[in-house]
Amino acid sequence: MTQPLRVAGGGLSGLATAVLLAREGVAVEVYDRRVGGGGRFHGGWQVLENGTGAEDALDELRRLGLPTDFEAIPVRSATFLDGLGGRHEVASREPYSYFIRRGGGEGSLDAALRRHAVAAGVVLHEGAAAPADADVDATGPRQADGVARETVFASDLDDTVAVLFDPAVTPTGYAYLFCLGGRATFGVAQVRRTGRLRAARDEAWARFRAELGGFAVRDAREGGQFMNFSLPRSLRDRRGRWHVGEAAGVQDFLYGLGNRLALRSARLVADGVLGRWDEARFRREVLRPMRATVALRFAYERLGRRGFAAFCRAAARRDFRDLLVAVQRPRAASRLLAGLVMAAWRERDGCRHGELCTWCRERER
Ligand SMILES: Cc1cc2nc3c(=O)[nH]c(=O)nc-3n(C[C@H](O)[C@H](O)[C@H](O)COP(=O)(O)OP(=O)(O)OC[C@H]3O[C@@H](n4cnc5c(N)ncnc54)[C@H](O)[C@@H]3O)c2cc1C
Repeated sequence: MTQPLRVAGGGLSGLATAVLLAREGVAVEVYDRRVGGGGRFHGGWQVLENGTGAEDALDELRRLGLPTDFEAIPVRSATFLDGLGGRHEVASREPYSYFIRRGGGEGSLDAALRRHAVAAGVVLHEGAAAPADADVDATGPRQADGVARETVFASDLDDTVAVLFDPAVTPTGYAYLFCLGGRATFGVAQVRRTGRLRAARDEAWARFRAELGGFAVRDAREGGQFMNFSLPRSLRDRRGRWHVGEAAGVQDFLYGLGNRLALRSARLVADGVLGRWDEARFRREVLRPMRATVALRFAYERLGRRGFAAFCRAAARRDFRDLLVAVQRPRAASRLLAGLVMAAWRERDGCRHGELCTWCRERER
C-alpha cells in the first residue's frame, strides 16, 4: 500500500491543498498542532481581497475547485482616516473585498475547508505536531517580518469598515476596525518596526474611538501574531518538498494579505503533486502579483502624512476597486523595484524564512 501524502499544517493553505488532492483520489493526512480547526485565528474578520485583478475572488475559488460555502460579505465602502485629521469615504461598484471569518467557528473559511476535507476523506490529526519530513509544508509563518495585534469583540457599533493610514501612529503599517453584524475586529499591523506595536495600538484605538463614538466592547479577546514575507523562487525546494501559503512566503507585501494567494498556491501545489506543475502559471499568478506589491511597499514607506492624505483623497474620488486594480497591476519596473526593496530589508542575523527564501539566502551564499 502506498503511504498517504502528509501535509504539515491545517490552516487554509494546508486544508485547501488536502481537499484538492483527496478529490483526485490521493490519500491525504493533515497534521495540525491545534485542535478544532482554524489554526491561529479566533473568529475575527479578515478580508478576501477582490482588488488585484479583474476576476472576482469567489469566481476564482470556484475555478480553482475550492469551496465557497462560507460566510463572505461583499464590501463596497469604507472610511479612511488620515494622519492630518481627515476622514474620507471610499466606495466601489463591485466589492473591493469580501469579509470572511477566520478560526474554527461556524461559517468561517477554515470551518468550510475542514468540512470539505473530512467529506473528501482527508484524515485529520489534530493536536499533533507534524512529522518533520511531511511531503507538504503548510505550517504558516516562521519569521517576524511583520507583526500584528488584534482584538476581537462584540459591539453595538453600526456596520463599519474603517482604516487608519497615519505613519506617525503606524510607521510602515496601518490600523483597522471592522464591525459587521455586531462582531468587531480591531487590529494594528506593523512591518519591521515591531517595537512600536503597543503604542500604535493605543493611539489607533483612541483615534477610532474619537471618530466612531462611544461604542460598546464586550467579550474582548486579544492576540498577537507575526507575518512572513519572502518572494519564493518556486513552491518546491531542492529536496522535492512542497511549500504552500505563508510557509512559502506567499503573501502580499503591501498590506500583508495572504488568503487569496495562499488558496491560489494550494491549487498550484496540488497540481504539482499530481505531476502537473505549471511554472508559467506560478510566475503569472503568484510571483508577478507579489513583486508588484513589493514595489508598492517601497512607495508606501515613503509616503508620509501628506502623501497618505493625498492617497485617501484620490481613493474617495474614484471607484475604489478600479483604483486598487490599477495600482496593483504588475509592471515591468516591478521586478527592479522588488530587488531594491528586498536588498534594503535583508536580515543581518541569518535567515529563518525556510528553504525557498530568495533574499536572505542569496546574501548568505
Ligand atoms: C492578524 C492578521 C490579520 C490578517 N488579515 C488578513 C486579511 O484580512 N486578509 C488576508 O488575505 N490575509 C490576512 N492575513 C494573512 C493570512 O492570515 C495568512 O496569509 C493565511 O492565514 C496563511 O494561511 P496558511 O494556511 O499558509 O498559514 P496559517 O493560517 O498560519 O496556518 C498554518 C497552520 O499550521 C499549523 N502548524 C504550524 N506549525 C505546525 C507544526 N509544526 N505541526 C503541526 N501544525 C503546525 C498552525 O497551527 C496553523 O493552523 C492576516 C494575518 C494576520 C497575522
